Amino acid sequence: MEKYLRILDTEDEFILLMDNMEVGFTYGCFSTCIVNTDFNKMHDIIKNYLLQIPVPDLILKISNRKRNKDDIVKMALRKLKPLIFEAMEKELLNSNQANMITMLLMDEIIHIILSCKGETADIDDFIPVVFRYDEFHNYVRSVLLKDNSQISEFLSGLMTATDIPSSVMTDQSGFSCQYYQVENLFQFILLDLHKSFKLRQVNECEVCHRLFIPKYRKSEMYCSFNNSACKKMMKGKVDDPFALEAKNARGYQSQRVNNASTQKKYDSSFLRNLYDKWSADCGRLCKEYRLNDDLTSFKEWIASTKFTAKRLEEEWEDYNNSK
Ligand SMILES: [Zn+2]
Repeated sequence: MEKYLRILDTEDEFILLMDNMEVGFTYGCFSTCIVNTDFNKMHDIIKNYLLQIPVPDLILKISNRKRNKDDIVKMALRKLKPLIFEAMEKELLNSNQANMITMLLMDEIIHIILSCKGETADIDDFIPVVFRYDEFHNYVRSVLLKDNSQISEFLSGLMTATDIPSSVMTDQSGFSCQYYQVENLFQFILLDLHKSFKLRQVNECEVCHRLFIPKYRKSEMYCSFNNSACKKMMKGKVDDPFALEAKNARGYQSQRVNNASTQKKYDSSFLRNLYDKWSADCGRLCKEYRLNDDLTSFKEWIASTKFTAKRLEEEWEDYNNSK
């Protein structure tokens, strides 16, 4: 970019500073938005626009100019801005954030065109890096979902190699934070991934497969986009055999500890603790077995931990012995 994008890191969010604008992004928000945006759609919109100008003619036109090169390029690209804005996934963004990202993408394209010298080989070279390669898009997705154990080291290495200029900035009140100057959105995404990798939980919605930042629990499975359409769709609908097994087993176990004869025989806090512990194990194992796609073992575990009369007696004995 002609002007560096300046970023303040407040240890809670990034504040992007550009011209007179100041827009905050919580860690992971920017990367998640880029990943949720349809890569092919955005890539094609930019590419088709650049082909239609066409860019080589534009470069030829500005090459003879001494002044106002920026304005000529901006003029030629003016109709691209609303197209980019429209194609961007905005569920996680407020309007300032959506405008800021659109501006940054536009600036990056303008900058690439202005700094192009001589022959233009490939139109793809004019597309901002974050929408140039779909492998990169997939990579960012896997980093956000922490799919790869070596990613943390790889990211640190990449950060060091990229060498983003940074310094510490302190305001009048004595509050200090890290200050970065990045050249393009690729560098910003690196910063964002680096921060969010350790600090931010990002999940994939099981219905629409877009990524989201869970609000209440780390284990949330559905996004709240579009007025929680995915949550509403899945409400009361159990189409996952693991969840169905867990639900049935919970019903059985709860009935076993709550029926009148059991309640008469044993201490109620013993029964409650026993059930709660089992239920927590059940939730954890349901996830683990689902990951390994091993329904048989999950069913076996459920069968082996049923609160039969004999098992309740044994647990009761252990409970009294451990007192
Ligand atoms: Zn969803």
